[in-house]
Amino acid sequence: MLWSGWGDPARARELPEQVRKLLHDLLGVRAPATPAAALGEVRLPPVALPASLQAVLAGVVGEAHVLTGHEDRVRHTRGKSTPDLLRMRAGDGSYAPDAVVLPGSHDEVAELLRLCSRERVAVVPFGGGTSVVGGLAPAGGAHGRARFAGVVALDLRRLDRLRSVDTESMIAEFEPGVRAPDAERLLAAHGLTLGHFPQSFEYATLGGFAAARSSGQASAGYGRFDDMVAGLTLATPAGDLELGRAPKSAAGPDLRQLVLGSEGAFGVITALRLRVRRAPAERRYEGWRFPTFAAGSAAARALAQEGPLPTVLRLSDETETMIGLADPGAIGSGGPGGCLMITGYEGARVEPRRTEASAVLARLGGEPLGEAPGQAWEHGRFSAPYLRDSLLAAGATVETLETAGFWANLPRLYDAVRLALLGALGSPLVLCHISHVYETGACLYFTVVVAQDGEPVAQWERAKEAVNAAVVEAGGTITHHHGVGRDHLEAYGREIGPVGVGILRAVKASVDPEGVLNPGVLIP
Ligand SMILES: Cc1cc2nc3c(=O)[nH]c(=O)nc-3n(C[C@H](O)[C@H](O)[C@H](O)COP(=O)(O)OP(=O)(O)OC[C@H]3O[C@@H](n4cnc5c(N)ncnc54)[C@H](O)[C@@H]3O)c2cc1C
Repeated sequence: MLWSGWGDPARARELPEQVRKLLHDLLGVRAPATPAAALGEVRLPPVALPASLQAVLAGVVGEAHVLTGHEDRVRHTRGKSTPDLLRMRAGDGSYAPDAVVLPGSHDEVAELLRLCSRERVAVVPFGGGTSVVGGLAPAGGAHGRARFAGVVALDLRRLDRLRSVDTESMIAEFEPGVRAPDAERLLAAHGLTLGHFPQSFEYATLGGFAAARSSGQASAGYGRFDDMVAGLTLATPAGDLELGRAPKSAAGPDLRQLVLGSEGAFGVITALRLRVRRAPAERRYEGWRFPTFAAGSAAARALAQEGPLPTVLRLSDETETMIGLADPGAIGSGGPGGCLMITGYEGARVEPRRTEASAVLARLGGEPLGEAPGQAWEHGRFSAPYLRDSLLAAGATVETLETAGFWANLPRLYDAVRLALLGALGSPLVLCHISHVYETGACLYFTVVVAQDGEPVAQWERAKEAVNAAVVEAGGTITHHHGVGRDHLEAYGREIGPVGVGILRAVKASVDPEGVLNPGVLIP
């Protein structure tokens, strides 16, 4: 993984000439005045964690598993949102942990949490490091570093095993540091799949998916990640929590829901028991054109409410269709006009479902475009983050944001976010698609492109603040699948109100009385 960008450096993408021209002509994008910092130039705070405490931690995990080198610290500074990358490119390593600690078992995690709580060392659980909401940047402001003897990143990469597969109950137990492609590879050996394919698939971990309530591109068919969690183990400074002993239960509130989305603030997930499915025998992706976003939305809603639901269902608005973002390889070459819908079917026998769904789409004004757009989407489904790096280097800020709402409120939400972005950024390019659908509503996923001004981080923060306010005001949720982190903290507080905030604080005080777990994240 690039330390200041996304993914495998070998897959870094040159910006196609037509995109450069489009950026210049449409948005006035110009190359940044200052080149990006080199790894060795990143400025880090001095290591605050005393050597004596480093030795205490090494006593638990072994000396080889406590890392304090420049590169290790840089690689655990922040996540992968656009402001994160802009700061790293500017050589700003101000949120670096003092040390990276790599536990090898649940017991080591539990012991580390006990010690860090006792010694007041802040602990940031670190999975794939792909957070886009500031979920890995603790300690600062009111929750400042000065309150702690040091800050460690608890990297879970050594907890990377598939522990068991129960093909009768269709549950697989994993450790949290397993990356998504490895989980799929391990399950494929049993003829199984998880079916969780977010755009961060290549690097994100199962623990991170659970901690941030992730949602994948095939959520219509396989569900969100939180739908997949049958049980889990959480290590906290106050002791362990073992949850999920039956498919459904009336034994009080479902405490799993307190852990899902807890973003490392309540404990460290050390095991996940996940619902699995048979690996699909067939896959088929195709495209449809709708005359307007409203017409396409109505068709998506019909499938979500009356069925049959495809495994993948997404609908680009007019601008996203025109730009061609559904197929990053073809950006700027012009989409099919109107609004592009991608439908994907996976399973044992996809044809009956496909035929029935196609009839619904055709009845509601859809025009079939065949398999080519579906295949192009499938081919490019994990490419966009690579393109972001090239756009940043070219002088364009490109960032994504998402919300969800009920169908009846979706047009209002769509307009509110667009207006907030236009108001804050002047004349950005704003693209949107419906990325996840439910019987009662859907997720709106926006991509924004704007020419960087002299202070691109501040420029984006103004826009983000405006969007957060607009989402709350328009009745949407502040996040459908990216999580709260630091970036949504204040708006999340407004979304759940003082009673909700009080509940979160009470849970925090109960499991983490010294407040060492991911301080400054999630809890308003
Ligand atoms: C290019 C890109 C595309 C993305 N696409 C999607 C998408 O399609 N869908 C989607 O849902 N998200 C997406 N994301 C967001 C991100 O991938 C998800 O939030 C993912 O769930 C994070 O997993 P991770 O392993 O990288 O966790 P990290 O980023 O390492 O951690 C995320 C949060 O969870 C905490 N945490 C991590 N592991 C544990 C654990 N074991 N126990 C307790 N807390 C833990 C961390 O402290 C942090 O607060 C995308 C991000 C990027 C950069």
